[in-house]
Amino acid sequence: MRVFVLDKNLKPLDPCHPARARELLSCMRAYVHKRYPFTIVLQDRSVENSTVHPHRIKIDPGSKVTGIAVVQEQTGRVTNALEISHRGQQVKNALESRRALRRGRRNRKTRYRKPRFLNRTRKQGWLPPSLESRIANIETWVRRIRKLCRVTAISTELVRFDLQQMQNPEISGIEYQRGELFGFEVKEYLLTKWGRNCAYCSIENVPLEIEHIVAKSRGGSNRVSNLTLACRKCNEAKGNKPIEQFLKKKPDLLKKILRSAKAPLKDATAVNATRWELYRRLQSTGLSVEVGSGGRTKFNRKIRGIEKHHWTDAACVGASTPERLLLLGIKPLLIAAKGHGTRQRCRPDKFGFPKAHAPKAKSFQGFQTGDIVKADVPTGKFAGQYVGRIAIRFRPSFVLQLPTQKFDVHPKYLKTIHKADGYEYQSSLLLMPYRTIY
Ligand SMILES: [Zn+2]
Repeated sequence: MRVFVLDKNLKPLDPCHPARARELLSCMRAYVHKRYPFTIVLQDRSVENSTVHPHRIKIDPGSKVTGIAVVQEQTGRVTNALEISHRGQQVKNALESRRALRRGRRNRKTRYRKPRFLNRTRKQGWLPPSLESRIANIETWVRRIRKLCRVTAISTELVRFDLQQMQNPEISGIEYQRGELFGFEVKEYLLTKWGRNCAYCSIENVPLEIEHIVAKSRGGSNRVSNLTLACRKCNEAKGNKPIEQFLKKKPDLLKKILRSAKAPLKDATAVNATRWELYRRLQSTGLSVEVGSGGRTKFNRKIRGIEKHHWTDAACVGASTPERLLLLGIKPLLIAAKGHGTRQRCRPDKFGFPKAHAPKAKSFQGFQTGDIVKADVPTGKFAGQYVGRIAIRFRPSFVLQLPTQKFDVHPKYLKTIHKADGYEYQSSLLLMPYRTIY
């Protein structure tokens, strides 16, 4: 993990090693600009008189967690890695509870009102709010990184497999040995086609092997229409038996497998709406956007012998991935989307009856829910120093949320180190020394 560096006009320079940043901070040549991600301002430098290398933002969008890696293109060094946890499910739950509440109220109060739920139109490119929030999270972080580092290109994963590279997979025979890019595309294709479970016993969440429906020793081909996925046990049990014999007791399953084996997978199933929309929005940044397939990502990661994490997957997205990726000692900054609070003033109980009223104000004594603070509690059960996120109350007793515990603190013991920005952070850089300039 490197530290982002800005020049005195807040223009991005090359990120530097944390040790170098500590040195610059302690000899007062730099000051802290931002805690998350850690950024310093070098006061005696400007972009004009220093060389700045181009970087590429690489994104592996996921439904729960998105990995982002910032890679220096010439050296292949991963300078920074982020893992963003989205709040799609929370958004969905909140909207569902609101809908149920409103529906109940309409039923009670306006029973004879004409329905008017069908006279609404949606803007083009509309996505459900839960998906929209995911895209917005990624857009936000691309925008933020661009302010901290010179970014010239973006890579993102768009599809699970690349149909064009496979060229009509159901017809052509394809080599799928380990280590071949095609093999990874074929595996991803099969995973999508057969639904990520064993074709014979439908077990899930186990390693699946590519299985020939007509065994090779019986003249079966390498065409995708002759391939399916099976768990180790089923694969061994079937061996080179004909499928008709192996599934003698399950005629329905046999019929289903034979039917779906011949049917080609439609192009559309490889791409989902969210990723397309993300791709469109990334293009509107004006940077060159490269797209990769899931098969390519896996291939890139496997041949480089890199462990699987969201951020390493991100670093391996796309054909432009450098031959050597330098990622020793990188620890990703873990980011969790937390939203910006709620406008709901009435807090109902589970039956929809008003339970409490929330004040309109968002801040109290200069603090806001979501601020990250340094707490120095002198006495009491929780005496000590902490860094964490606070939730405010409208009296001098805030809740300090730490990874393992939470307790009440008086605001006089708190000092804000990072203003609420809709995200929560967890990183190893929490205890960097810092100096603020007023
Ligand atoms: Zn099985």
